[in-house]
Amino acid sequence: MKIFRYSSHLEEHLSLEKTGEKSIGFVPTMGALHGGHLSLISIAKKENDIVVASIFVNPTQFNNPEDLKKYPVQKEKDIVLLYRQGCDILFLPEETEIYPDESSRHKTYDLGYLDTLLEASHRPGHFQGVCMVLESLLYMIMPDQLYIGQKDYQQCMVISRLVNLLDMKTKINISPTLRDPSGLAMSSRNKRLSTEQKEIAPLLYASLRQIKNNMENSTFAALKKAETARLVSNGFEIEYIALTDENLQSLQDFVPGKNTVLLIAASLGKIRLIDNLLL
Ligand code: AMP
Repeated sequence: MKIFRYSSHLEEHLSLEKTGEKSIGFVPTMGALHGGHLSLISIAKKENDIVVASIFVNPTQFNNPEDLKKYPVQKEKDIVLLYRQGCDILFLPEETEIYPDESSRHKTYDLGYLDTLLEASHRPGHFQGVCMVLESLLYMIMPDQLYIGQKDYQQCMVISRLVNLLDMKTKINISPTLRDPSGLAMSSRNKRLSTEQKEIAPLLYASLRQIKNNMENSTFAALKKAETARLVSNGFEIEYIALTDENLQSLQDFVPGKNTVLLIAASLGKIRLIDNLLL
């Protein structure tokens, strides 16, 4: 596995590879890698000649400075994990490679309604930051295919929109959420959970399952109320439990035969967790 710290070196290397018409699959991450990230690498490997991963904890997408400060970092371990997974290239940039000047940290993207609801309304500026780092990475790597996780459902929609806005031909592949045996969606932030919190955290997914399993004999409002009470009594602070169509437009109740999504965001102590389930 080749590791690049400078975009100029990465671009030079990739341009040589591309003259051989090799296809490039790209997996952007913020590191502290887990099985979810590694599953994206595996899928990308099956579908491309070269797999590029990036690790960059992107400051512009953190609306909460403490969350950024405490974001888990384990570079050496990540390098070993990627190497073992068969990743070909790792891009590990310093901040100045992504944001060479002040103006590069203040771009804006027209994300429409995606920038006003759910994650966007609870994390102002978050998706603008996601777009800034991805625009920069996409132009450097020019991947044929981009691999992202359904765990970040709204982010997947934002990235699709960004690729359209940039008029790029990159194909987007969305992979299912990998979970611990407890049902808890794998997440880098799980590394910050205490032993006690780790026992409670799987309730988040259990609540989504409970709503899904009872959707035929109850209303969304009643199920949401019951699951909110259960989660709060176990120490969660809920930001939202939402039912939407596949485009994230809010729904009041279940619609038989329609593709719908259940989404949840809640905190345990200072650790914010999100999850979702397709109905
Ligand atoms: P992150 O490092 O959190 O920015 O995530 C990098 C990529 O991994 C994003 O496309 C995420 O959606 C994806 N990802 C994160 N957690 C999971 C998971 N549990 N299963 C599958 N993909 C995931």
